[in-house]
Amino acid sequence: MKKAVLRLCIACRELKDRKEMHRIMTEHESNTVILNPNKHQFGRSAYLCKSEQCIKKIKKNKRFKGIYEMIVS
Ligand SMILES: [Zn+2]
Repeated sequence: MKKAVLRLCIACRELKDRKEMHRIMTEHESNTVILNPNKHQFGRSAYLCKSEQCIKKIKKNKRFKGIYEMIVS
């Protein structure tokens, strides 16, 4: 059995399977936040559960507010 890759959710702080999460990346050069970037983009990554609860949580966070809008749009 293949081991799941676990990532820490920025909203609930729980470790979850990477496949069940959104990837949020801050690009080095432009310092813009990108939702689920492609492989050619590099930057600092954060992860968020695809659950409604966690998505709602980041709405209150100034830094991730734009991400919330991208997910729900
Ligand atoms: Zn979560």
